[in-house]
Amino acid sequence: MPIPPTDVEILHRLLIEGVQDYAIFALGVDGTILSWNTGAQRLKGYSASEIIGQHFSVFYPPEDKAWNKPAYELEEAARNGRIEDEGWRIRKDGSRFWANVTIMALRNESGTLIGYGKVTRDFTERRKAETQAIVDAQRFAAEEARRIAAEVQMREMESLVTRLRDQTTELERRRAEAEVANRAKSDFLAAMSHELRTPLNAIGGYAELLDLGVRGSVNEDQRADLARIRRSQQHLLGIINDLLNFSRIEAGQIHYNPSRVQVGEALETVASMIAPQAATRGVTLLAPANDPKAAAWADHAKVEQILINLATNAVKFTRDGGSVELRGWSDATAAYFVVRDTGIGIPADKLSDIFEPFVQVGRSLTQPSEGTGLGLAISRDLARAMDGDLTVTSEINVGSTFTLTLPVPTAAPAAATRAAAAAE
Ligand code: ADP
Repeated sequence: MPIPPTDVEILHRLLIEGVQDYAIFALGVDGTILSWNTGAQRLKGYSASEIIGQHFSVFYPPEDKAWNKPAYELEEAARNGRIEDEGWRIRKDGSRFWANVTIMALRNESGTLIGYGKVTRDFTERRKAETQAIVDAQRFAAEEARRIAAEVQMREMESLVTRLRDQTTELERRRAEAEVANRAKSDFLAAMSHELRTPLNAIGGYAELLDLGVRGSVNEDQRADLARIRRSQQHLLGIINDLLNFSRIEAGQIHYNPSRVQVGEALETVASMIAPQAATRGVTLLAPANDPKAAAWADHAKVEQILINLATNAVKFTRDGGSVELRGWSDATAAYFVVRDTGIGIPADKLSDIFEPFVQVGRSLTQPSEGTGLGLAISRDLARAMDGDLTVTSEINVGSTFTLTLPVPTAAPAAATRAAAAAE
């Protein structure tokens, strides 16, 4: 005959059954659901009649059932008295909620396991808040990292700018120093050349006087010696004039007087000047008739100076039997003066070097050559100062072609030239 429950027991049962916020239910030793309260119905969606008698593993998702989590939790609770767990659980309608679960082992007075009590709470909202807090913290950390990286980059940029500014200042200082040194060099060259020219002119003058017999009669041997003295004097004077010329160009002291330059006429003048030199060397001089209308706008004397230098080089670097050709023309944009030879040619890696001062291809100290290595440097500086240029193409043992390009007379200067011609 069952003992009727006491008032306290009834109160206790009603309390458990009435709790709404917690699912509280009892399991048999094998995990079968034995009781069900209002909270359990609210949380899981089953009514007491639907669920009592079923195994409590119906609340676990398949991935947990796959490794026997329900049985494991019961074992753990039996072993340790209780087990607490958080994880996904399934409602009757199949939806998931994040549950906080406590399973307690229930034993009778003699210590025999008679079942389990299970309390489940819905922590979905709390988990959402936690997850959100983590996401927020991650976002904040990422933003902080970006801000720090930007700051570091900013500081690097600042130091780069400072370094650049320092370098620019240093470069400017060096440029100023180089300019001073360059000016000193030009002044020195100019002074030296000037000082050397005076005695050299005297040497030439006195040699000529002796040659003329002013100081008494001169025999053939003496005349030959005087000629040698004159040649050496002329050669030295040529070098010194080059130096003086170069230092003046470098110092920007050259004055340019541009006018209409007849391409054909300039080339003919130069051809007649170097003809003797070409004949002596056995080099054929080709000066085809040039277009009489071809013209440049430049300083006449400077154009001739450049062309003489190019033509002299062409003859100097062409072997007996070779030829040198002087040709010119103009189009709407420029006037061209071409000096082509069939000489020894210039190595490809030296084509730009030869326009630098004092560069002579293949020259060694034991094998002095004519010239100073200044001619092309001077010529190109002059060409560029007149808004033109000097370029070269060459092939070893085939020959070299130097092209002087100059501006053409524009309508205004051409008209001015015609007006000046008409006035004469
Ligand atoms: P220089 O003739 O006084 O040596 P340049 O400046 O006129 O000086 O020429 C520089 C160098 O360029 C020459 O020493 C020579 O090596 C090379 N060069 C110039 N013109 C020619 C040419 N037509 N053929 C071959 N080499 C040339």
